[in-house]
Amino acid sequence: MNPYRIETPGVVSFSGGRTSGFMLRQILDAYDGELPEDLLVTFQNTGLEHAATYRFIHEVETRWGVPIKWLEYALDDEREPTVVVTDHDRASRNGEPFDLLIGKKGYLPNPVSRICTVQLKMRTQQRYLRSLPAFADGWTSAVGLRYDEPRRALRLTGDTSLENPVAPMYHAKHTEEDVLAFWRDCDFDLDLPLAGNMAGNCVGCFLKSQYKLEVLAQEMPEYFEWWIQAERKASETADAGAVFRQDRPSYANLMKQVREQGQLFSEDAGDTISCFCTD
Ligand code: SF4
Repeated sequence: MNPYRIETPGVVSFSGGRTSGFMLRQILDAYDGELPEDLLVTFQNTGLEHAATYRFIHEVETRWGVPIKWLEYALDDEREPTVVVTDHDRASRNGEPFDLLIGKKGYLPNPVSRICTVQLKMRTQQRYLRSLPAFADGWTSAVGLRYDEPRRALRLTGDTSLENPVAPMYHAKHTEEDVLAFWRDCDFDLDLPLAGNMAGNCVGCFLKSQYKLEVLAQEMPEYFEWWIQAERKASETADAGAVFRQDRPSYANLMKQVREQGQLFSEDAGDTISCFCTD
């Protein structure tokens, strides 16, 4: 049985990275290039991705002819979380869904309370699927975890009993090497600046290593303005939870440091925690 033939109704979580893009291509091929009506592809936008990621997602949907649902966290008239469907041209580019979440919760996400990955990514997808009659009794959720990520792939659990998460790349034994080889041979690719996936997901994500954030702040300071402002606004309204990390300098101080002294970290000690915001 081809692990890329996902049981339906189902959803493919596309993060806008190479790994989940590879997985999507394998799933498309397993269905001879056209997905069944009840197998959807979603991308949950935080508004804080690199411009190259948005371009890449748009290239995937246009070049491969696969409809991708661009979803965003929003608040309804009662200020309860809801979901809006958008597209490449209208999608938020300045953290608007993230701002709504912080306003709703009254504090910033942090490594212990990763409300951004839960609400902006996981629950936003769930809210959308729950609104569809075909998904009322549950769905299969294909997540881009590879064979070389066994701990994460084998520990996959659904966030709700309606969701049955699967890792087809793990079962097909596809590794990072396969992913990179595929994109090397493809006629388009994700053109993020800097090595690997350093600028992937939310560019300034607080779960990235200090080394990565220093490099990113130096190379693309414009992507850090939102993070600096989010901490500034939070400090004006909250006693606690006014920074993303208690154990690190604020984003304003990070920026000041790289401007005045350059990078203090010369080696990447690795990201602190992995989350649903996979590649
Ligand atoms: S990439 Fe980081 S900041 Fe963005 S939603 Fe995921 S955990 Fe939150």
